[in-house]
Amino acid sequence: MKTIERLINFMDKHDYQYTNGFDQYGDAIVIHERCDEMTIIENELYRLCELKTADIGKNDINLYYDDECTICDKCGKIVSTQTYSSPQYYMDYDACECICADCVHKDPSNYIDWLNNHDNRANTILSMDELYHNNYEKLGVVDYQNGLHEGMNDDPKQIFAELSKTHKNIIFDITQMNPFYIDFGVYVRNEDWYEISKEVV
Ligand SMILES: [Zn+2]
Repeated sequence: MKTIERLINFMDKHDYQYTNGFDQYGDAIVIHERCDEMTIIENELYRLCELKTADIGKNDINLYYDDECTICDKCGKIVSTQTYSSPQYYMDYDACECICADCVHKDPSNYIDWLNNHDNRANTILSMDELYHNNYEKLGVVDYQNGLHEGMNDDPKQIFAELSKTHKNIIFDITQMNPFYIDFGVYVRNEDWYEISKEVV
């Protein structure tokens, strides 16, 4: 029996309210309502993982409270919504539809359309390569910074206003994020480069 099955048996035995499924790392269990159950279930998970029996599954089980996650509307995967110290790895299209990063990677077109030409939206999912394959190239090599430390005052609204004079399609991209500051870059659609260079010629 796998660890996940043992843990589910344990929760069933104690009448704990939960949902189980998969997140991006593997098995996931969502525990309903914030209470002491999480500590008890975590302890049981640690205990099961420490049992060195051959039939035990991998220790890739993640526990969430139900207010710490959401469900991908496309694939049904459980997605953590905790973004205190790392960028958001899911897309919640204006809080109406949640799409996990894996589904965004499979078909990034809607995500790119959603990001395009908005000074209050930024990519946290796609890599530089993925943006490049979707015809966006990074503008410049030094990232902008906005944060609590002195000099970290780059303003996306001002940057967008300035760049939109010369570029038709602009995407902001968060390269680093922590509680104190954000590093971000700008991508522009490379098809526009050719149009701009043609205009210059
Ligand atoms: Zn998904």
